[in-house]
Amino acid sequence: MDIPRIFTIRESNHRIHNPITPDKLALLGRALHLRPGMEALDLASGSGEMLCTWARDHGLTGTGVDLCAMFTEQARARAVELGVADRVGFVHADAAGYVTEPVDLVSCIGATWIGGGLAGTVELLARSLRPGGLMLVGEPYWRRTPPDQETIEACEATSMDDWLSLPETLTHLSDLGYDVVEMVLADQDSWDRYMAPQWFAMRTWLDENPDDEMAEQVRAELRTEPARYAYSTREHVGWGIFALRQR
Ligand code: SAH
Repeated sequence: MDIPRIFTIRESNHRIHNPITPDKLALLGRALHLRPGMEALDLASGSGEMLCTWARDHGLTGTGVDLCAMFTEQARARAVELGVADRVGFVHADAAGYVTEPVDLVSCIGATWIGGGLAGTVELLARSLRPGGLMLVGEPYWRRTPPDQETIEACEATSMDDWLSLPETLTHLSDLGYDVVEMVLADQDSWDRYMAPQWFAMRTWLDENPDDEMAEQVRAELRTEPARYAYSTREHVGWGIFALRQR
């Protein structure tokens, strides 16, 4: 089992598969007062940048779980590169329903479909969280209300109900029984850092694989994707990582 191949074409050069920059990730790590030896479980860990850099910078230990074989390989290589392979490990598996012995820090950054939405993912993560531990969720929100259904769909949503506004997101998390104790939000520059390298990766891939069965799809996407992004996601969709403590 693996994720659709298009993601590994678009995001082959990404260390972080979300609109958050290395600086913002480091800022969040510092803001959370992480202590050496803290144990973490990161569901949908991608290429493992969060666990690997926080293991290096804060002495975190733990496990990442991701369904993409290529990203999981990249995560293992990154752990070796940063000298933290003895502290963090990466499992290639479905994170839906993945539960471990309770740990100090549980997270799901930008993949809340694994729990059927934000509330379900918070519930899933809570099952692996020790009392008093810290939970992180990364999730989009509406930064501006899209003017029509066409714009909603261009934002890669199906309806307004897919996401909440930022205040609504914070209220929702509170209503689930959690204190929101920190957050780091994407801005348009960090969105650009997530999206624009995908165009470079697609073009490079096309140059190297002109006859691949996916080439036509990738070529068509690359032609329209920058304008789509600028008109829709960049203007209307916010994104953030929220740190939660159970009340
Ligand atoms: N948290 C990482 C990756 C976010 S991108 C980061 O911030 O960089 C979303 C990730 O979810 C991808 O790595 C994808 O492979 C993974 N994914 C998608 N469905 C999954 C599932 N059912 N189980 C585990 N991982 C999944």
